[in-house]
Amino acid sequence: MRKLSSYIFLIIFIASFFTYPVPTKAVSNATTLAGLRKDLAAFEAQKKANDSKKKMTQSEIKQKNNDIASANKEIENSEVKIEDAKKTIETTGEKIKEYEAKTEEIMDFYQLMMGDNSYLEFVTDSSSMTELIMRLDAVEQLIDYNQDQLVTLENLIKENEQKQVDLIKYEKELNANIESYEKKIKELNSEYLELSDISVDIDSDIKSQKDAIKTYEQMGCKETETLEACIARTSSSTWLKPVPKGRINSLFGRRNGGNGVSSNHSGIDIGVAEGTQVLSSTVGTVVTTFRTNCGGNQVYVQSYVGGKPYVVLYAHLLKVSVKTGQTVNQNTTIGYSGGYSTSTRHGGYDKCTTGAHLHVSVSQTVYKNYSNYVAHLINPPGYPKTKGAWFYSRYQWFD
Ligand SMILES: [Zn+2]
Repeated sequence: MRKLSSYIFLIIFIASFFTYPVPTKAVSNATTLAGLRKDLAAFEAQKKANDSKKKMTQSEIKQKNNDIASANKEIENSEVKIEDAKKTIETTGEKIKEYEAKTEEIMDFYQLMMGDNSYLEFVTDSSSMTELIMRLDAVEQLIDYNQDQLVTLENLIKENEQKQVDLIKYEKELNANIESYEKKIKELNSEYLELSDISVDIDSDIKSQKDAIKTYEQMGCKETETLEACIARTSSSTWLKPVPKGRINSLFGRRNGGNGVSSNHSGIDIGVAEGTQVLSSTVGTVVTTFRTNCGGNQVYVQSYVGGKPYVVLYAHLLKVSVKTGQTVNQNTTIGYSGGYSTSTRHGGYDKCTTGAHLHVSVSQTVYKNYSNYVAHLINPPGYPKTKGAWFYSRYQWFD
């Protein structure tokens, strides 16, 4: 019999899943500020639709929680029932033994009477007719009693055999249930892993799009000129590392999340001590900053490097030192790295980090909203391509 702790784990797991943001998809084809404004209205309408969907999802999860709780109760009850059935089988077994002993006694007596003519003697020894009838009656009663005993004994044996068959069937059913719940845990785990990188809820995403619009206004972008042409006015030709030294803890792309499930890593993880100063990799403008419970404090910098638009993300930050709309260069402090104390494992709020590190992502696009940003992610340029490798300077370049 499996322990209940694994089911309790599942309930806790689903409870944490409950607060997870519903992933959003707001793909924007806007190339101008005017187009981006139009998209924002559509995005906000989508949020309304999503909110009701989210409510539905939450009630579905609640329902699932209830289902699991009652299944849990059923398993508990089943375990009690199985124990009871085992006890009954044992008690019946003892009764069978008693009956067998009694039957043996009677059989002995019967044999004694039938064998040495003692039955005949017992009957014919009677001194009167009345006594003879009484004695014949007594013998008949003994025979009846004996037959009853044998029938009861037979029934008891049959009953106990059936009980054992039922018990085996019951245990099989129970184990099948346990297996299906284990499968569900695996499925939920893989869903969780798909999300456990950086995840942005729709409220933060709408805020990010509003921030972007405000930033492009501040940058003096015209309503109908392309955003790309606008941001190209703040351009640079080089990439620098955001920290002077670090270890590549996790590479860009597919990675194994354990349990045989892989997920997509949207950037690279640089192992640095918590509180490390994070500098801007590029010249650019802070297009949005926000905080989510999967990714922590995040800063998105819109840049134009070597003739192409890029957005650089710095995530899991302990502290943010820049504001939306602020112009940055490669000596500007973006913030300070976190990832340890900010993680839920160590009393923080960020579900998607376990230890101190800086997450850096690069998207080859003009920032419109998070979904658009995700659609154009690239492997951040210039970093070591091997997990565990170190770099020792902001200028060190790896092809
Ligand atoms: Zn990461």
